[in-house]
Amino acid sequence: MKQHFIDNRWVAPASGESIPVIDPSDGQPFEAIARGNAADIDRAVGAARRAYEGAWGKLSAAERSRLMMKLAYKLQDHQEELAQLEGRDCGKPMKQARADAAAIVRYFEFYAGAADKLHGETIPYQAGYTVLTLREPHGVTGHIVPWNYPMQIFGRCVGGALAAGNTCVVKPAEDACLSILRVAELAAEVGFPEGALNIVTGYGHEAGDLLVKHPDVDHVSFTGSPNVGKLVVRGAADHHTPVTLELGGKSPQVVFEDADMEAMLPVVVNAIVQNAGQTCSAGSRLLVQRGAYEQVLERLSGLFSQLRVGSSQMDLDCGPLIRKTQQERVAGFLADARRDGIPLVAQGEVAPGAPASGFYQAPALLRDVPARHRLAQEEVFGPVLAAMPFEDEAEAIALANGTDYGLVASVWTRDGGRQMRLARAIRSGQVFINNYGAGGGVELPFGGVKASGHGREKGFEALYGFTVLKTIAIRHG
Ligand code: NAD
Repeated sequence: MKQHFIDNRWVAPASGESIPVIDPSDGQPFEAIARGNAADIDRAVGAARRAYEGAWGKLSAAERSRLMMKLAYKLQDHQEELAQLEGRDCGKPMKQARADAAAIVRYFEFYAGAADKLHGETIPYQAGYTVLTLREPHGVTGHIVPWNYPMQIFGRCVGGALAAGNTCVVKPAEDACLSILRVAELAAEVGFPEGALNIVTGYGHEAGDLLVKHPDVDHVSFTGSPNVGKLVVRGAADHHTPVTLELGGKSPQVVFEDADMEAMLPVVVNAIVQNAGQTCSAGSRLLVQRGAYEQVLERLSGLFSQLRVGSSQMDLDCGPLIRKTQQERVAGFLADARRDGIPLVAQGEVAPGAPASGFYQAPALLRDVPARHRLAQEEVFGPVLAAMPFEDEAEAIALANGTDYGLVASVWTRDGGRQMRLARAIRSGQVFINNYGAGGGVELPFGGVKASGHGREKGFEALYGFTVLKTIAIRHG
């Protein structure tokens, strides 16, 4: 069993209990993780508090930066090992797992570089005053991480929090957390002080809930589903703990008749197929202007029917879904489409050789999905693309904004004025023009509006969320 990682040491769970880790590629258990409880969370928060008041808190910003850069280099040296762990744990095709391992290096590199560039300002005020602001860390930050991109999401929230001077307790997802445990161990090896970075594994409703409600946690960053996001906000309210929420999406890809079709088609496919559609920023709705609708669907039909699904090591277009219940959920959406007469344009195939016991789902393209149907409204979190036509800009905007979500959008058009009008009119945290960045690089602030959450991670902007602004007014006459 993999134990918790607290105070730079492996720590057995107080309960003595474990949770099996299943390989989604074949449905078989291959490891076990510790089942965290209140005693484990207390221990980790205590360690983080001591580090905040002690060794980590006493480091200068430049020293923090140097340690984080050492970790970035260390992660680079271990990239293939981390990719193999992530590939097996999440069922990711190895090319995706390798991209994730490269991304976490970049997160630590970026935030290492940012750590000593975060500063307050001076503000003109009444005569006889000097007013300045300080950006201070919250203290101990709690991080709840999902299973779809464990390393990447860990890198983005923990990277920002550490750079800003906080110490961290992380509760990764019970479905996939092996890479995160290894990263914490590597952080200890490069010299992170004890308690600066602690990992407690376990179930969300147990360890996760306890972390959110812990009175000595000063900030919570939660990445996960909108429903659990609500629970997190309510739980954190007990102690007025501030929360950053990165939730789901039903992101539109909006294609006008004048779009560059050759450039658009593979990007549209990748935006829904990446990570088997288990991406918060998946481009799961395709809105196409009427005059190009048939042509786009015909071209996409060819591309979708060529998609192949297989195990992590088969390294095809898609891996399996994370677990059996997720596979059943996605199949349920497709059954609803059949029942309601929504046409299936094309579907990929599970490749021969993929273990029958794995959680596979062939990617599907649906057309004429009614705007109020659950396939156009709810997050499927699987490789299912819902296409629908629109007539003009006004309808495109209404459809794009017509869900509870607002995370990412793309607009495909050569018309510069229309690009800007749509970019401004679409209510979402990110808008890509003539591309789909699925969240974009570490430099680009990322986060949602509406049910997609609030607060921003990535980019320099994230550092503001991981700090508290203090105003100091000095009356000197
Ligand atoms: P989930 O909300 O069930 O779980 C996410 C994390 O929350 C896990 O670590 C889980 O253990 C924990 N958790 C569960 N219940 C909890 C509770 N009561 N208190 C505290 N923690 C709890 O989500 P999921 O199904 O595992 O992940 C998929 C969802 O995450 C999708 O909606 C997806 O869009 C979203 N997501 C969003 C982003 C983003 O950046 N916006 C990124 C990845 C995933």
